[in-house]
Amino acid sequence: MEEYGLQTLGLHAGYTPGNGEPRVLPIYQSTTFTYDSTEHVGKLFDLSASGHMYSRLSNPTVDAVEKKIAALEGGVAALCTSSGQAATLLSLLNILKAGDHFISSTNIYGGTVNLFAVTFKKLGIECSFVSGDSSAEQLKAAFRPNTKAVFAETIANPALSILDIEEWAKTAHEMGVPLVIDNTLATPALCRPFEHGADIIVHSTTKYMDGHAVTVGGVIVDSGKFDWKNGKFPDLTEPDPSYHGLSYTEKFGNMAYIVKARVQLMRDFGVYPPALAAFILNLGLETLTLRMKAHSDNALAVAKLLESSDKIEKVSYPGLAASPYHQKQLKYMPNGSSGVISFDIKGGKSAAVRFIDSLKLVSNEVHVADIRSCILHPATSTHRQLTPEQLVAAGISEGTIRLSVGIENVEDILADVKQALANVVL
Ligand SMILES: *Cc1c(COP(=O)(O)O)cnc(C)c1O
Repeated sequence: MEEYGLQTLGLHAGYTPGNGEPRVLPIYQSTTFTYDSTEHVGKLFDLSASGHMYSRLSNPTVDAVEKKIAALEGGVAALCTSSGQAATLLSLLNILKAGDHFISSTNIYGGTVNLFAVTFKKLGIECSFVSGDSSAEQLKAAFRPNTKAVFAETIANPALSILDIEEWAKTAHEMGVPLVIDNTLATPALCRPFEHGADIIVHSTTKYMDGHAVTVGGVIVDSGKFDWKNGKFPDLTEPDPSYHGLSYTEKFGNMAYIVKARVQLMRDFGVYPPALAAFILNLGLETLTLRMKAHSDNALAVAKLLESSDKIEKVSYPGLAASPYHQKQLKYMPNGSSGVISFDIKGGKSAAVRFIDSLKLVSNEVHVADIRSCILHPATSTHRQLTPEQLVAAGISEGTIRLSVGIENVEDILADVKQALANVVL
């Protein structure tokens, strides 16, 4: 199916019904699966036969969606998780342990900042934050002998900076570690980070992949290209005592990373999505590329309107010619840069509140990337726990507003934004 276009893969990858079977991916609402012999079940536990045994590890509905997402990203395999946070957590715990260090861009989702700066620290894993605009030299300077990974977002939420994926991947590889990319806001419909050298991709599927604000979920995708045998990752190459001394790289080759994440971390942490959640996610994936085009086109029109208003201090949208990230947008996502716009209104917090509360069609909610337009004030919500310094580092001020442009008729969105702007008295 590799040779098909993305919209075709979104519809058909992962599930091919046989003669007389359901046209639509069935919901396998079963925690368990039956086998003819104890010998076969024993092989499943030894990882020497493939097959589903328990829906904490794998399930046929979720499996089909994993295969679809792997195809969309051009990876070898994927592992779905119960949330985007769980995907980020497992993607790194799979290669890091107490005493290890990794580097992250500062321009990332607020929840990920908490995970990296606070929770990982308690687990003995240290994270150094560097600007998402860091050059190869600046990135290299943050490396330590125990550095095991580099993490960044394709389009940062909500700073809307675009990462130079090729430069970061090259630097990470020179230092012998993988580049892990959170591709949530771009989605493979706009950017496929593996084509630019990224090694592992994570998503909050809660956002554009589901797209309809229905189900929380996440996914980890493996490019299958990173060389885990370079001496830095003994947990992938050396015998695993919890599987009779099996070596993941020896047994599973270029699928070692994702198999380990599933059979070791998913087994132990149990953050696998239920079949129904995967079924709903699958419906979203079927229209992903169509929606991303509509989101991007609408957002560009709204960004241009905001840019022309004298009540707006600054608009961050990589699709605007004036954006410092416009060249990177043209290189990494020439077909559009998603529906998310971030802008600073003049008059700070009070003006931001007045503008948001005046909107009629666009709703105020803690979400982004919904088909319906929605808006949020990061400083008092998603980024509330950040210190003033962390806020500045994440590119957020008191007047920053994050607008997620939906796929309504663009004239209706523009009219709503115009009337709300008129209500703001500076
Ligand atoms: C929402 C989000 C997450 C977290 O995902 P959940 O599904 O809410 O757990 C991670 N990264 C980015 C970029 C996000 O927007």
